Amino acid sequence: MEKLRFSFITYGCKLNYSEYSTIKRNLLNLGYQYVSWYTFANIYIINSCSITENAEKDLFVFIRKIKKINKKAYIILLGCFTHKLYKTENILKNVNLILGTKDKFDLPYYLKLKNKNKNYISISKNYYKSSVSLDETRTRSFLKIQDGCDYKCSYCPIPNFRGRSRSENISNIIKTIKKLALLNIKEIVLTGINLGNFGNFGFNKTKYDLFYLFNQMEQNLTANIRIRISSIEPNLLNNRIISLISKSKLFVPHFHFPLQSGSNYILNKMKRRYNVKRYIKNVKKILNIIPDACVGTDIIVGFPGEKEANFLETYKLLKSLELAYIQVFPYSERENTDAYFMKETIPKIMRSKRSKIIRLLSKKKKKNYCLKHLFKHYRVLFEKTKKNGYIFGFTDTYISSKIKWKPNLIKKFKAVKLIKIDNYNNMECQIL
Ligand code: SF4
Repeated sequence: MEKLRFSFITYGCKLNYSEYSTIKRNLLNLGYQYVSWYTFANIYIINSCSITENAEKDLFVFIRKIKKINKKAYIILLGCFTHKLYKTENILKNVNLILGTKDKFDLPYYLKLKNKNKNYISISKNYYKSSVSLDETRTRSFLKIQDGCDYKCSYCPIPNFRGRSRSENISNIIKTIKKLALLNIKEIVLTGINLGNFGNFGFNKTKYDLFYLFNQMEQNLTANIRIRISSIEPNLLNNRIISLISKSKLFVPHFHFPLQSGSNYILNKMKRRYNVKRYIKNVKKILNIIPDACVGTDIIVGFPGEKEANFLETYKLLKSLELAYIQVFPYSERENTDAYFMKETIPKIMRSKRSKIIRLLSKKKKKNYCLKHLFKHYRVLFEKTKKNGYIFGFTDTYISSKIKWKPNLIKKFKAVKLIKIDNYNNMECQIL
C-alpha cells in the first residue's frame, strides 16, 4: 500500500519547533512519508503560533495554495492559534481537523478518524502534562523541559493557551540527553515557556529548581555535547546559575534574557517582575564573571503608553549595555490580555519606526560584539550549512563562524581563531 504523504510547517518559538519535531517523528514512525511544504501531499499540517499578528489571514492564504496543489488535501491546524478561534464553523469549512495545544499530541488518533468524512475540532481547556520533545535530525536539538507559565505579563496570551507552569522529570531529561548524544546530536537547546520557573512538578513548586537541574546535568553527563539555554526571565537568572555556567564543561556562556523595555514605567504596565536596575546588575554580573559571554535580549516597542521619552530611555539603556544582539518586536494587540484594553495606543507607523531604530542599533551591537572577539580562540561546532563555498557553525559564545567548505567538518567541534568579519557579521576562522 502506498504511504500517505504529509507536509508540515511550524511557526513561532523554539518550543513550538521542538513539539513539531516530536509530532513529525511520531508520524514517520507510523509509516507516513514526509514531503516538503507546497509539494503534493495527502495531508497538510500547520503548527500555529498565537503571536503571529496575521495568523488568520496567513491561514487562508495557505489553504488557497494547498487547494491549488491538491483539491482533496486533508488540512490540519494545530497549536496556540486554535485557542483563539471563535468562529470555528467558518474555519472548519476549509480545515478538516483542529487540535489545541494539548490535543495536538494525539494527532495519530485523530488521523485514524479521518476517513469518516467528518471534520473534527478538539481544543481542550484543561492543562496538560509536559513532554520531552526533540529533533534528532540535525546537529542541534531543541529539548522542551518546561511548559506553561504562572506569570501574567499584561501583553502575553500564552498562559491562556498553555496553562500553568510544570516541568519535565529530571532523570527523564538526563536520560533523553544521553540518548541524543548517542544519536550524534552535538548541541542541545533547553527550551520552555518560562524556563527559569523550572521546578513545578504537578503544579507544586519544589526545591528541584533550574540550578538543581543544571547541577545534576553537570554531574551526570560526560558526553561530547554542549548545552545552550534558550531564554530566562531576568528576575529568575540568579548568581548561582551564572557562577555554575562560568565553570561549566557543558553549558555555553550564552544568556538570552528579555528586557522588553528600558523604562520602569512601561515595565510596570507590562507587569514584568524586575526593574531596569536589576536588569543592568544582571548584565554586569555576567560580564564580570564571564567577560566574553554572549548576552542577548528581546524588546517590545510601541507598548500602550510608550511615549517618546520612554522609548528614548529604552534606546539609551540598550546603547549603554554590552549586548551582543537585540531582537525587537513591535507591540501587537492580543485578545484576552490586560494590555488589549489599555488606552494610549501607539500608532502602528510609530511602532514600526521604533522597531527600525532598534534593529539598526542591534546590527551595530552585533558588529561590535564580533569585533571584540576578533583574533581570539574559540570552539566552533560546524553544522551542515553550506553557503557560497563555506561551512558554517557557531562558537560557544554564539558567533556565526565560517571556513572554506570541508564536509569532514560537519558535526565536529573545532578550536579556531576568528580572523575576519564579513558584511553579515559572520566571522571567518582558522582551525588551530
Ligand atoms: S513570562 Fe510573561 S511573557 Fe513569558 S510566557 Fe509568561 S506571561 Fe508570557
